[in-house]
Amino acid sequence: MEKISTKPIILNGRDVADEVLKKLQGEISSIKAGGKRLPGLAVILIGDNPASKTYVTNKEKMCKKLGINSHVYNLPPETSEKELLLLIDKLNNNNEIDGILIQLPLPIHLKFEKIITRLDPLKDVDGLHPINLGKLLSNQDCLKPCTPVGVIKILKHYSIDTTGMNAVIIGRSTLVGKPLSMLLLAENTTVTIVHSKSENIEKLAKSGDILIAAAGKAGLVKKNWVKNDAIVIDVGINKIYENGIGKLVGDVLYDEVSTVCKAITPVPGGVGPVTIAMLMSNTIQAYNNRNKN
Ligand code: NAD
Repeated sequence: MEKISTKPIILNGRDVADEVLKKLQGEISSIKAGGKRLPGLAVILIGDNPASKTYVTNKEKMCKKLGINSHVYNLPPETSEKELLLLIDKLNNNNEIDGILIQLPLPIHLKFEKIITRLDPLKDVDGLHPINLGKLLSNQDCLKPCTPVGVIKILKHYSIDTTGMNAVIIGRSTLVGKPLSMLLLAENTTVTIVHSKSENIEKLAKSGDILIAAAGKAGLVKKNWVKNDAIVIDVGINKIYENGIGKLVGDVLYDEVSTVCKAITPVPGGVGPVTIAMLMSNTIQAYNNRNKN
């Protein structure tokens, strides 16, 4: 990747996603040609968070486009732990279902750790079951969390070799920051994670050859947080209102950071589309693994 103007290289997530989806389309065509059962993905959405509803609709549309059977379970916000666990048991035992995704965030009365542990790890297409996270930690083959694996996909698509580079990740969640640190370590990158209790975040962020923002705070990363010619990956998705009109932005002040960095992912159109593509990829991986077993 060579920067030839003063403008940064836009790391276009839609192009990366298209490449992944094209390959998956080929795999699904051979499944169809062989007259075999198509892969099935179950998505559980609890409550009526508008952002979650949009994400689920996008996932459903992508399944339809690819030929994956999608089954959306839209449960009321007051759904009890017992009811949810019963549904998970039913889906674990349903042979037509290869992947189960629980849309986050969960309502406050449902405990994520208990719910996720009930999933069959072979169907855990979000890669968040402790067995899959443990395998990720020990470099074993497993279903990996979609967003972190999507970030690596973007870097590889643009031939960015991170060997020996310093990566700084802002955010230590189980969904993004922690698994991404493992994947970057596996790429021989030196990793620092900062979080809401870290001190000197600005200085640490500026030490990053790669800066990955996954805090969920609009406008957090300013120009003076970014090393010259750094690669900036903006995972954050935040809704803000300007003159009463809502729009999606990341954690990075895109316009000003673009003047100093070498490459940057936009929001929207960066990490988001690749995350959905990786979910589709995990569903087909789960389908293939289950058919082998
Ligand atoms: P989270 O709330 O679970 O974790 C946020 C992390 O950021 C925490 O570790 C917290 O310590 C840290 N943090 C918060 N404020 C900070 C600050 N001021 N300085 C430093 N660290 C701070 O969130 P999450 O689920 O990891 O998601 C993070 C963001 O990524 C959200 O905006 C979310 O919508 C977005 N997201 C995007 C995708 C995608 O496909 N693009 C996928 C998942 C999450």
